[in-house]
Amino acid sequence: MASKRKLEFNGKPVPEGEMIRYQDGRPVPVKRPIVPFIEGDGIGPEIWAATRKIVDAACQAAYGDERGIVWYEIFAGGKGEKLFSDPLPKGSLKAIKHFGVAIKGPLTTPTGGGLRSINVRLRQLLDLYQCVRPVRYFDGVPSVVHNPQDLDVVIFRENTEDVYAGIEYRAGSRAAGRVARALRKEGVKLRSRTGIGIKVISRAASRRLVRAAIQFALENNRKVVTLVHKGNIQKFTEGAFLGWGMELAQEEFASVTITEDQLWSDYGGVIPDGKILINSRIADAMFYEVLVKPKTLSVIATTNLNGDYLSDACAAQVGGLGMAPGANIGDGCAIFEATHGTAGDIAGKNMANPGSLLLSAVMLLRHIGFGEAADRVVGALEKTIVDRTVTGDLARGMADSQELGTDAFGEAVVANL
Ligand code: ATP
Repeated sequence: MASKRKLEFNGKPVPEGEMIRYQDGRPVPVKRPIVPFIEGDGIGPEIWAATRKIVDAACQAAYGDERGIVWYEIFAGGKGEKLFSDPLPKGSLKAIKHFGVAIKGPLTTPTGGGLRSINVRLRQLLDLYQCVRPVRYFDGVPSVVHNPQDLDVVIFRENTEDVYAGIEYRAGSRAAGRVARALRKEGVKLRSRTGIGIKVISRAASRRLVRAAIQFALENNRKVVTLVHKGNIQKFTEGAFLGWGMELAQEEFASVTITEDQLWSDYGGVIPDGKILINSRIADAMFYEVLVKPKTLSVIATTNLNGDYLSDACAAQVGGLGMAPGANIGDGCAIFEATHGTAGDIAGKNMANPGSLLLSAVMLLRHIGFGEAADRVVGALEKTIVDRTVTGDLARGMADSQELGTDAFGEAVVANL
């Protein structure tokens, strides 16, 4: 009998396990899902080692030997370059597509020379159109505001369009000249030597992002979805995003949503049971609102650039980037990742906080139906921080804390599972 060839990517055989399959864009839970991981550069290997240990221990605590993740290493960034002379080897991309899920540490962004960041390439190649960033406070984490616990939002940032679409022309280039001439025909005159970037927002991309945000709110019992835009200035891009988002809510979710007008005219300002309020805010006002009225916010859906600024501002408000998780999600594929960079200044020193990658792993666990393990990780992390046993970045702002290295912090979380 002919032996079945073992599945492999980048020449590395895939271990025994199950593939996550998607039905209607959602993963169907399996007992031993194969999950590819990319360690990442800089502090990546350290925070990944701690994260993996905690997640495995949480699965063991929640399910015994019944269920667990089968990790499969794939390569990108420095390790991809070293092993395959490519920061994003084809095999790695194929593996993510094949398994429909991956988790990754931070990757060095190649600078200059027209090289796009690996993160941006992954998002575009896999059409991961939702950048999802939950932002909540962990009791005890030092914060610059008085009531950081009042902010508990999940930000859905459109991930494929806006000024990130890569439509840019260098000042003085031929292409910039051609674009400038085309614009002149539309009555727009540009100064000589002008760099040109084009912002694009489509109906299709706006609608699918807002749909994902509303669906998330419905499934997670969140009562408000706020569309954030700069439509007062950019009418046909940001304004259109708002218009298309509202249109989508009306067309597909009319029975479960109300507008801000209806909230006041029909419901006296109180969101009725079983309904979600869909409202909107202009981007600059939103930065005021997250600081001054954080309790009014729950799920935020916004365009790419607004979402970029807003998610980092919100993360800073609750205690910094070291704890902010993120996921890039498409229909049938998702990558979970630390939101901070490679932190070269502390790489290899056993000082990094694995919180961001660990909380991204929590999102991964929920995504693949391992909710009980996810709850355990969150509970243990909460306890470890309340005990004031934390990594240096947090210890610096915490009185009477005990500073731990990355690995000891990981062990402390495991002990609290
Ligand atoms: P890159 O070039 O990859 O964007 P960077 O060092 O410019 O990296 P970040 O990695 O985001 O940017 O780091 C900014 C600062 O925050 C650095 O001082 C870094 O040490 C610190 N930092 C980032 N992530 C962590 C972490 N997980 N734990 C502790 N400190 C961190």
